[in-house]
Amino acid sequence: MKKIPVHIITASILSLLAICAVVYLAVVFGAARKAEPIYPGEGVTQVRMLSEWCPSLKGTAGDTEVYVLDSGTPGASMLVLGGTHPNEPAGYLSAVMLVEYCRPSCGILYVIPRSNNSGFTCTDPLEASPMTFGIETAGGVRTFRFGSRATNPVDQWPDSEVYIHASSGQILSGSETRNLNRAYPGREDGTLTEKVAFAITELIKNNYIDITVDLHEASPEYTTVNAIVAHEDALSLAFLTMWDVEESFRISADESPRNLHGLTHRELGDFTDTLALLMETANPSQGRLRGRTDANLVVSGQDKFYVRAASYDAVTVPYDERGISISERCARHVSCLAAMAEMSPFVGEGREINLGDMPAYEEIVANGIGYYLHDPV
Ligand SMILES: [Zn+2]
Repeated sequence: MKKIPVHIITASILSLLAICAVVYLAVVFGAARKAEPIYPGEGVTQVRMLSEWCPSLKGTAGDTEVYVLDSGTPGASMLVLGGTHPNEPAGYLSAVMLVEYCRPSCGILYVIPRSNNSGFTCTDPLEASPMTFGIETAGGVRTFRFGSRATNPVDQWPDSEVYIHASSGQILSGSETRNLNRAYPGREDGTLTEKVAFAITELIKNNYIDITVDLHEASPEYTTVNAIVAHEDALSLAFLTMWDVEESFRISADESPRNLHGLTHRELGDFTDTLALLMETANPSQGRLRGRTDANLVVSGQDKFYVRAASYDAVTVPYDERGISISERCARHVSCLAAMAEMSPFVGEGREINLGDMPAYEEIVANGIGYYLHDPV
């Protein structure tokens, strides 16, 4: 029998290994495109899709669930946007908590937990971010996606050299083309990111949303952190909220800059009748001064480099060995949302929305955000 040459055997083995690697990576890559489940709680009366407000989104990575929590009692309407930046997990998790726990007693609450759905399918290059993080619930650990600041390049590519904001002509760096919070009010025939922004703007117009709140996080060294940024029309609501929560925690209220375009707190206030606000908590896993970046940092917010930076006054929020946990950051977001709803009659011509029996800031911090989430299934 003729002997098979060694180089043929070697090439065959290497080819087989390469095929196995490709199949394995394809499975991993494919799994990253599948979102983890969100379990609608008793307050959810309808689950709609964002493409209802922009049909060309249907079937794309930009389409995402819109949860409607209708109290059945006439009142105002509030829209909460989580996951505008999927690398800011307290914004996403707070929105998930509303879907799974909140039962409004007056008015209608709309929640979009994954506003930039595509951004949840990848992480940012060179950031060493974890792909997921775990949250302890009563029934075990639930896994959530840690995503990218921007739309996945797989879904929108290439970036132009510079990004020209459509309605203002503002010029930013090309990578901002995929940043949902630079795309408002959006365009029906624009990029995927602009279509998502357009759909959210249309939802606000068509459903007469009185208050829109966009949930974010930022680096602990950033100047606008532990803050509410409000369109000038919503500034009084921001101040009322700030005063309402001040016994529990400090938050500042800042006016939206009039010459910075594409952001929710500017464009949604200018292009619709909604009161547009954005909130920021301090997220060490996003900061430039952080050390090891892993799921533990995302959840605990503990980082020895930030402790050292705080000793040099290099961070803008109080920071010590206890860190800033994701439960504390969610507690801020959720408490401020409940306070905004409570204050709504003072700014909305007698119309009100009430989020019902929501836990206090101190309770969320003590119990952990997982206490208010559905068990893993
Ligand atoms: Zn953000």
